[in-house]
Amino acid sequence: MKISEVFASIQGEGILAGVPSLFIRTSGCNLRCRWCDTPYTSWAPEGEEWAINRIMEWVEGNRGYRHVVLTGGEPMIQPELPVLARRLGDAGFHITVETAGTVYVELVCHLMSISPKLANSTPWEMEGGRRAEAHEKLRINGEVLRRLVSKYDYQLKFVVGEPGDVEEIRQVIQMCGGAPERVLLMPEGRTAEVLRKRAGWLVELCKQHGYRYCPRMHVEIYGDRRGV
Ligand code: SF4
Repeated sequence: MKISEVFASIQGEGILAGVPSLFIRTSGCNLRCRWCDTPYTSWAPEGEEWAINRIMEWVEGNRGYRHVVLTGGEPMIQPELPVLARRLGDAGFHITVETAGTVYVELVCHLMSISPKLANSTPWEMEGGRRAEAHEKLRINGEVLRRLVSKYDYQLKFVVGEPGDVEEIRQVIQMCGGAPERVLLMPEGRTAEVLRKRAGWLVELCKQHGYRYCPRMHVEIYGDRRGV
């Protein structure tokens, strides 16, 4: 499958934040978020083909790690993902899949980390808006979200740009039957300064609605860098 990067780090977001983890980042995405923080997997996908055996060799060469994160791009559009997940599961790894929740796939997964994309992601102003309509049609798929939430142990992570986004978040949660305590809100932003500015009102929203506030530790620790 096409891989843009592999690296060892700590999980920066979500209920497993802080856990040392191996990241396998697939290249290619069916969406085009305006604020995508990995454009090298979506707007201009980079990478090379890795055989499953090569990925497993890399994973098993990193001794001491028990958690693997399959991320992207959109890993669920990779035809070989279920095979890789089964190999990782058989080898005893805890598997997190990071997905936007637009495609349903059955695979070995211990945490389905679903990040539905809100209206704030639609790239109306980018490249003359040529990707905006397709993105808008695809970004929320109620049937897929319901199946993911009912089949897998899950978390629902939302990137929030402004307080008004909370109404759309409420609608998406209602649509897919997600539990408020599995919902994490994280500020949009690619620098620690922007994240800090948005944290104040976002924490208040979490308190009002019973959602979790989700820091983005990797941005705070490393800044906006690849492979960390
Ligand atoms: S779904 Fe993720 S990888 Fe794809 S464009 Fe949006 S932020 Fe980027």
